[in-house]
Amino acid sequence: MRKAIWAALAVLMTIGGPAAAQNYPSRPITIIVPFSAGGPSDAMARILAERMKTTLGETLLVENVTGAGGSVGVGRAVRSPPDGYTISFGHLGTHVANGAIYKLGYDLVTDLEPVALLPSNPMIIVSKNAVPAKSLKELLEWLKSRPTPPTAGTAGAGSGSHIAGLYFENVSGIKLQYVPYRGTAPALTDLVAGQIDIIVDQTSNSIGQVRAGTIRAYAVTADKRVPSASDIPTTDEAGLPGFHMTLWSGLWVPKGTPKDIVTKLNAAAVEAMADPAVQQKFRDLGLDMPPKDQLTPEALGAWQKAEIAKWWPMIKAANVKVQ
Ligand code: ASP
Repeated sequence: MRKAIWAALAVLMTIGGPAAAQNYPSRPITIIVPFSAGGPSDAMARILAERMKTTLGETLLVENVTGAGGSVGVGRAVRSPPDGYTISFGHLGTHVANGAIYKLGYDLVTDLEPVALLPSNPMIIVSKNAVPAKSLKELLEWLKSRPTPPTAGTAGAGSGSHIAGLYFENVSGIKLQYVPYRGTAPALTDLVAGQIDIIVDQTSNSIGQVRAGTIRAYAVTADKRVPSASDIPTTDEAGLPGFHMTLWSGLWVPKGTPKDIVTKLNAAAVEAMADPAVQQKFRDLGLDMPPKDQLTPEALGAWQKAEIAKWWPMIKAANVKVQ
């Protein structure tokens, strides 16, 4: 009798262990994007999901779980079963900065398993068209001359656009009043409508509206111009030297996900990023591919830890209050 129970247990363990990894995936996978549909994270995740399906043979569904600078969506992923069917999409904001701002209820390093580093994006300083400035220097003058702090749209405390805003305050000495949204897609809609003054946005989010002439761009926060928007100067050229920021993204799964599954997901993401059609879509958005030697799960883990060490002191010094 006892033997039979052990035999049954052994079968169960095989189903949950190596056998499960071998048959993986056998149903659709969900990628949790912690910001609004139509925003920069959503756009990147959807391009990847479509191509990763070719490698994995199963659909990857994007679910937008928004709120609290992306920490609601990441929390949902952390609490999901570690079986490879829930992936956490995130970036410098969600998987680094949020840990310095919120009491998260999860640990960004020990409760998640890194899968792959994704493309990165310089930020771009953009304003509503009603701002009467033609250059970054004129924009800084205009912002300084406001009787009350100018408004800056963000995707919530701890998001990429918020960290970029804090950095901008640091280098310019200008105080901003932040207006949080559930993603930079709705923030951009309000900028176009003239409801807010500026966004220090991901280039991939704003570039379409800049090209359409519905908002104005002043500088990109990189040491080189963005090839797909080469008329926009860098911050070094335009008058805020040294203001460089790159928002990188990545994929994670809950801690305890079998290694074989992490390896399969990593291979699918790497294959997607090597596809010329995907690369073209990313280039059009002003995204830079990750370095070839940084594509392993271990490289993302090491990079995330290095970024925590770099950014937390500045974010903690800014003493951000979240309600
Ligand atoms: N990546 C966010 C989004 O997709 C924006 C942000 O982090 O600022 O809306």
